[in-house]
Amino acid sequence: MIVRVTIRAAELIERKRNGAELSDQEISELVLGYTSGDVPDYQMAAWCMAVYFKGLTGKETHALTDAMIRSGDTIDVAAALGRRVVDKHSTGGVGDKTSLAVGPIVAACGVPLGKMSGRGLGHTGGTLDKLESIPGFRVELTIEEFLAQVREIGVAIIGQTGNLVPADKKLYALRDVTATVDIVPLIASSIMSKKLAAGAQSIVLDVKVGDGAFMKSIDDARILAEQMVDLGRRAGRDVVCLLTDMDQPLGAAVGNALEVREAVETIVGEGPPDFTELVLDACSRLLALSDLGIDTVEGRARAERALADGSAREVYERWVRAQGGDPDLDALPRAPVVREVVAPRAGVVTRLAALPVGIASLELGGGRRTKEDEIDHSVGVICSAKRGQTIEAGQVLADVHARDEASAETAVAAVLGAYEIGDEPPPVRGILLDVVA
Ligand code: URA
Repeated sequence: MIVRVTIRAAELIERKRNGAELSDQEISELVLGYTSGDVPDYQMAAWCMAVYFKGLTGKETHALTDAMIRSGDTIDVAAALGRRVVDKHSTGGVGDKTSLAVGPIVAACGVPLGKMSGRGLGHTGGTLDKLESIPGFRVELTIEEFLAQVREIGVAIIGQTGNLVPADKKLYALRDVTATVDIVPLIASSIMSKKLAAGAQSIVLDVKVGDGAFMKSIDDARILAEQMVDLGRRAGRDVVCLLTDMDQPLGAAVGNALEVREAVETIVGEGPPDFTELVLDACSRLLALSDLGIDTVEGRARAERALADGSAREVYERWVRAQGGDPDLDALPRAPVVREVVAPRAGVVTRLAALPVGIASLELGGGRRTKEDEIDHSVGVICSAKRGQTIEAGQVLADVHARDEASAETAVAAVLGAYEIGDEPPPVRGILLDVVA
């Protein structure tokens, strides 16, 4: 039986290698065979590499996503809650704490947000790691607890739970070690299978573009966005995809507890301008896709009101308490050493590269290189000077939060290297680059 599956998988690899379009049935056999262990890692890796060179058609990408969803359980949140639930997802970047702010704001506007998130690996942080910097916060809830909390509080963000999309868990780990992560249809099906299995009817996706993101160019980002929107549409969901700037860190804070603090400052209207703009834009679109029957202009007005009247902060506190955490910002861990990064000359910040700041935070201990690494939630960087800002010689550009002097010193040099200071202001590049719907 296994021998027959192996011969069949070899045939499918060969056909993909030769550029053929596989049928829905063939893709399903491969994915479900891989999940059950009948198709071995080496064959799936070869198939992924064939996809790297030959691509997948829209129909194949849909079949792959569908098979991945069928590899495990799904949640029908609409049936459980009796109304539309919204979700958001970002492809990940440096300083991306958007979900922490968006969740309580849309919930304060009366729209339930239920989200399953991941952990960070490499220079991009994960939402779960940020949440775990809040003392006591539990990211592991059962599906029943998750649904009850979305019903009662209006927001829950938890780790992947139950047996949702086991094919992706296995396939992503394989892609990670076989140089097959950066393949657009595989990324699209990986992200969308998890979003669709988790059951939200309306999804706002945020594809980051720039040196700190998966997608380095806007053209590649647009192709990924179009594929994900198409997968959502085929599944009968409403999906809007924002393409947003990751050529500099988002907001000022990079590092787990620092980002939680900035997210909370933002939901009371005291956040950095670029991050606040992205949060309000994402909220306005989520509210417009919800069952409130409003457009994005009204959505934006309601989101702004939730910041101004304190209701978003109230929901944040109820949400954090519901998941066992202490919402007091003074309870967040603080790094013992804080060192300034100082401008060597006067001028204008022409560039603040995201990647070196993300790596500096990782090396301070704020991220993990391997899945087993422990995170120090207190460390990170606050980039107070951003692209386009005029600065004086000796002005503080950023603060490094470190656990010791040696790591602080290394990070100060790395963050200084991420800044370019010139005489002419750089071209204006807003946070929102494009929208695909
Ligand atoms: N994030 C995912 O969930 N999957 C990918 O393939 C890439 C990024």
